[in-house]
Amino acid sequence: MAGVLRMQRVAVLGATGSIGTSALDVIARHPQQLCASVLAAGSQVDALLALCRTHAPAHAVIADAAFYPALRDGLQSAGLHTQAHTGDAALQALVASAACDTVVAAIVGAAGLPSTLAAARAGKRLLLANKESLVLAGDLLMQAARTHGAVIVPIDSEHNAIFQCLADGNPAARITLTASGGPFRGWTREHLAAVTPAQAVAHPKWSMGPKISVDSASLMNKGLEVIEAHHLFAVAADQIRVLVHPQSLVHSLVDFVDGSTLAQLGLPDMRTALAVGLGWPQRIASGVAPLDLLAQGGRLEFELPDVDAFPCLALAYAAMTAGGTAPAVLNAANEEAVSAFLQGRLGFLGIPDTVAATLDAMPAQPADTIETLLATDARARTYARQYIARVGGYA
Ligand code: NDP
Ligand code: MG
Repeated sequence: MAGVLRMQRVAVLGATGSIGTSALDVIARHPQQLCASVLAAGSQVDALLALCRTHAPAHAVIADAAFYPALRDGLQSAGLHTQAHTGDAALQALVASAACDTVVAAIVGAAGLPSTLAAARAGKRLLLANKESLVLAGDLLMQAARTHGAVIVPIDSEHNAIFQCLADGNPAARITLTASGGPFRGWTREHLAAVTPAQAVAHPKWSMGPKISVDSASLMNKGLEVIEAHHLFAVAADQIRVLVHPQSLVHSLVDFVDGSTLAQLGLPDMRTALAVGLGWPQRIASGVAPLDLLAQGGRLEFELPDVDAFPCLALAYAAMTAGGTAPAVLNAANEEAVSAFLQGRLGFLGIPDTVAATLDAMPAQPADTIETLLATDARARTYARQYIARVGGYA
């Protein structure tokens, strides 16, 4: 009917996480236009139940089957009509079904790939936070989105910034990804050797889940983002530059052939990127305050990253250039190393060491199928775990 907008039904995957919480905050601000129709989490069943009581989705999915009875019974005793599900297949089917128009892909790690790919293959609007799926299977994911007409709106703040700068359709001559520098900016390798998980997750500017916080501290996050930009915006390695910008207000910049550089600025709050994704091409309120540069100190600084103290960035560039299975190896080894670091089984410098050793042991192969990539992911994890068990003594 003319003048009446259809309600946009949104599946929030990783609903209990940092991005999921921010997405639900924005959705709740627009009850006439947006509703959370599917909520999915890993194992935090009580947190998922609490979200179901607030948002009353049609479906809730818990990945860990052990928590399915608690989800089903909890929904029933709360008097909710939400249907309970478990397992990857159920999640993929829901994502592809008429239960949602839009999918917020915010599961952490390679575990997010199957559902992200299912959303692309179903032609959904895909709000892509799960950068690991692009690193692992970027060519296949972008191809699936093109073939099935899925619109990808990147949610990673840098890529969301670039997406906004490229809105008029002209190609980028060069992209500059900004990086906060993380909690250890300016530290030497010697000092980095002794850092603890608590120090690594204490990000100076952004509040995020533990895995991406450690990635930000090691600069692997920026490395993953370089590969992410390569796939999202079809730019080559020599067209992507990284600059450290400690204020985290300029989220990235794009140079055009005519000498213009466009940037997107805003406070470091992921609700802006999520509102861009949910409302695009319209602007909708996100709850984020407007940027007042004077209140923020009136300074915007930029410097080159220290690639000697933080080798992960160079490892990611190397994996991207090698292509094929190399980015999948990089990602898998990094996920294993970060997990071991967070559990106190590996020192901070063991993260780049593990990634470098795994890349050395598994030279790049062609990667045309999802099966090849998943098998590579599994083999790289096995190698990395064995490496960590061997060297972990110096954690
Ligand atoms: P969190 O650790 O805060 O949340 C992760 C979410 O994923 C949780 O809801 C978790 O559920 C869920 N989850 C984990 N494993 C599975 C699984 N196998 N199946 C279903 N759900 C699962 O992470 P973030 O929100 O920080 O990050 C999410 C993604 O977004 C990452 O890929 C990250 O790189 C990216 N991103 C995040 C940013 C941020 O500001 N946080 C910025 C840019 C990108 P449970 O709670 O039950 O464990
Ligand atoms: Mg980012």
